[in-house]
Amino acid sequence: MRTYHDPLDLVRERSPERPVALVRPDAVAVAARWFQEHFRGDVFYAVKANPSPWAIRALSEAGVGSFDVASMPEVELVAQHAPGSRMAFMHPVKSRAAISAAYSDHGVRTFALDTHEELDKILEATGQAKDLNLMVRLGVDTEGASYSLSGKFGVPQHQAPSLLMAARRATQDLMGVSFHVGSQCMRPTAYQAAMAQASRALVRAGVFADVVDVGGGFPSVYPGMIPPDMAGYMTAIERAFSEMMVHETTELWCEPGRALVAEASSLLVKVELRKGDALYLNDGSYGSLFDAAHVKWPFPVKAYCGKGALSSDMKGTLKPFRFYGPTCDSIDHMPGPFWLPDSIGEGDYIEIGMLGAYGVAMATRFNGFGEMDTAVVQDAPMGSMFGLARRSIPHPQIEEEETRKVVRFSRPKGKAGQKRRRR
Ligand SMILES: *Cc1c(COP(=O)(O)O)cnc(C)c1O
Repeated sequence: MRTYHDPLDLVRERSPERPVALVRPDAVAVAARWFQEHFRGDVFYAVKANPSPWAIRALSEAGVGSFDVASMPEVELVAQHAPGSRMAFMHPVKSRAAISAAYSDHGVRTFALDTHEELDKILEATGQAKDLNLMVRLGVDTEGASYSLSGKFGVPQHQAPSLLMAARRATQDLMGVSFHVGSQCMRPTAYQAAMAQASRALVRAGVFADVVDVGGGFPSVYPGMIPPDMAGYMTAIERAFSEMMVHETTELWCEPGRALVAEASSLLVKVELRKGDALYLNDGSYGSLFDAAHVKWPFPVKAYCGKGALSSDMKGTLKPFRFYGPTCDSIDHMPGPFWLPDSIGEGDYIEIGMLGAYGVAMATRFNGFGEMDTAVVQDAPMGSMFGLARRSIPHPQIEEEETRKVVRFSRPKGKAGQKRRRR
């Protein structure tokens, strides 16, 4: 993988025909170190957010030794690029073959479940192993999340106690609870509410948990979505943990995906055609722009003149554009608005920022597209939760809206921002 000082250098030198994932391993390292320093427990990286080998290696090199995996290919990926790491198979529905291979061939001991049937499957597929860590995935309220993950997984409140008791009986090792408050969770209090729910279920079941796994959901920064400080999330989790019915040795785990990788990658695309305010690009919703199309997130953008000049040299004021991807499907449309110089046209390049999470991870081969290159760049990400760039992203039209949103999301008070000691 080649390293460039910044995306402009790459455009000047290569005028790339294919989309390029611009990756910043240093930004991954900064996020990883922040989590390890401020989260009072074990950090598992949720591989699905970005399964690229460079990301897994960067996390591993920055000290992340635990990975949340959901399939055998993810298990194999981690085994290859971060050998010796601990893996937790946190998908609540797994094939028997996957459970068995993960247990026997890769030493995976931690498995999630949200039904008695899955518990039986795990026990049978591991030959009634006695050394399992069994994590009961609870259904929790997911208010405040931009992306709810509650409909599909999680044992309902009233069924939780019997499953917790069964899991407790089934293992001599760790029994834990886990949940997911939903991705891009804008409210630290969502974790507190979920942990209080988990505590009530444990009390009703009359069992102690050895692990409380607060899942993922930690936010990144996108235009129009400026979350509270990350420190506020840590404060909320610590407070809720201290209020839970747990014992002295109960471990706290988390499984961030988005927050560790979102800012560390952007996408460089080429404009193939302009029709008024519509730009036809060489990547789209079947490539790395799934969220831009399906959740209509207006990702931040920068323009680079195809002749190798800075966007500031491009003529014209900023105007709102929408994007079309390269496939023949009309849903391959990203409404934006994306603010770009009025002079932009065929042959120019656009860098779309904050695409490290759920970007390249989503790409398909539909219509013959999906091939892309990867290059390392050394400039700062367009936005950052960890001090690498402004926390707000300049965006002409939604600046005002942004301010209103920040006020609406309850900001953590008091100790937020203070340094926290590690356990
Ligand atoms: C997707 C997922 C995560 C990561 O979620 P983010 O919102 O990206 O932090 C963590 N745990 C589980 C079980 C998941 O399915």
